[in-house]
Amino acid sequence: MSIATTNPATGQVLKTYDPMSEEQIDAAIGRADDAFHQLRGTTVDQRAGWMYAAADLLDAERDEIARIMTTEMGKTYASAKAEVTKCATAARFYADHAAEFLADEPADAAAVNAGQAFVRHQPIGPVLAVMPWNFPLWQVLRFAAPALMAGNTGLLKHASNVPQTALLLEDVFRRAGFPEGAFTTLLVGSDAVDQILSDPRVRAATLTGSEGAGRSIAQIAGRELKKTVLELGGSDPFVVMPSADLDRAAEVATTARCQNNGQSCIAAKRFIVHTDVFDEFAEKFAANMAALRVGDPMDERTDVGPLATERGRDEINEQVRDAIDRGATVLVGGEQPTGDGWWYPPTVVTDLTPEMRMWREEVFGPVAGLYRVESYDEAIEVANGTSYGLGSNAWTRDPEEQRRFATDLDAGNVFINGMTTSFPELPFGGVKNSGYGRELSAMGMREFCNTKTVWVG
Ligand code: NAP
Repeated sequence: MSIATTNPATGQVLKTYDPMSEEQIDAAIGRADDAFHQLRGTTVDQRAGWMYAAADLLDAERDEIARIMTTEMGKTYASAKAEVTKCATAARFYADHAAEFLADEPADAAAVNAGQAFVRHQPIGPVLAVMPWNFPLWQVLRFAAPALMAGNTGLLKHASNVPQTALLLEDVFRRAGFPEGAFTTLLVGSDAVDQILSDPRVRAATLTGSEGAGRSIAQIAGRELKKTVLELGGSDPFVVMPSADLDRAAEVATTARCQNNGQSCIAAKRFIVHTDVFDEFAEKFAANMAALRVGDPMDERTDVGPLATERGRDEINEQVRDAIDRGATVLVGGEQPTGDGWWYPPTVVTDLTPEMRMWREEVFGPVAGLYRVESYDEAIEVANGTSYGLGSNAWTRDPEEQRRFATDLDAGNVFINGMTTSFPELPFGGVKNSGYGRELSAMGMREFCNTKTVWVG
């Protein structure tokens, strides 16, 4: 994939970039390593000062940053602005809490025959971040803020279709006061990842992206004995039980499926509905999906913009065609429009069966699969019946069912009677083929720290 800004609403290529040469990559890693030696000698307060300044720059330049994001990957301008604000909030969260998260943790010295014993959290060095285009600022920021606050440095290999967003984030951290090399954007394709991760100066990697990219990076990291955090795909279940508030569930289901034009790892993708309320929920949900306004993502009235890439749009169209060919029923949408840009309408498909691609694959666009189940046990069986385990959602007012869902759903998070989302205060990550490791909260910061035991006799 060439490194370029292409407007998904029109298909027009607006700006192209030459990938960095091996020599340029080597020099950038050198600067990241130098910056690490500088950064680890700074205090948390100094780093927090720079992080607050970065947050202020994000707030001040929100509209322009959002415009670039919308132009590069098609998310609505309104959601792009909200993403910039969320990033500023998370930057402040880590500036506020880094001292607490990095503080020495005293241990029971007598129990380990010591005069003194404690655990210290220290940075490990330059970390490679391979990131996707879907939340082009948030995915990077949620790595960068804890990493920089811990005293690590970041090397960003962003998705090839969001180079301007990648470059502006480097610029924001630099202008905020972080030393040169503390956060560097590498304009490279995925073929350069092997060289970068094999470099002894690069100590670890984090990837947010597809399962395929995860396997590839984990292989390189395994060979090089380097730590990885993998945030991969998901096919989140959204279970609706008879006691649920159906109006609210159908409303949130629509947002949960179509936020970010349907391209979110934690979008609800499979709607698993108890037979007692299936018809009523299906009618409300289908009506909400059909009412969404598709159009120019810069228009504040638009709910759903174009898909980010032509390949991604073609992929969901093929998944829906496959389901239809094998006997599925389309309740809403299901027809790829003709014309410029990469559009796909909000779609609801039901009567799905296990041999269909939609049953087992992630659908990365505004397409909902609707499943009818007869019982709680069948709901859990269908919900857990994929190779993924990222987020999950259950709608029930029955306290006993709420307790059981929290335990039985095989996922990195369970949201009950509300939409799955991420918060700086709570850990985020998956199980099974959705990856491993956690971002956000104190856990996200410590993933790339040396947890050092100190024992003094
Ligand atoms: P992708 O194709 O895997 O791309 C993500 C990043 O990985 C890009 O920077 C890409 O570079 C790079 N990449 C791709 N193949 C690679 C390889 N073999 N070796 C090294 N790097 C490689 O994913 P996407 O289609 O952009 O993003 C959608 C996927 O990300 C979905 O599966 C979604 O669920 C997942 N996602 C997960 C989370 C989470 O937190 N769990 C969050 C958001 C998205 P190029 O652009 O240069 O190819």
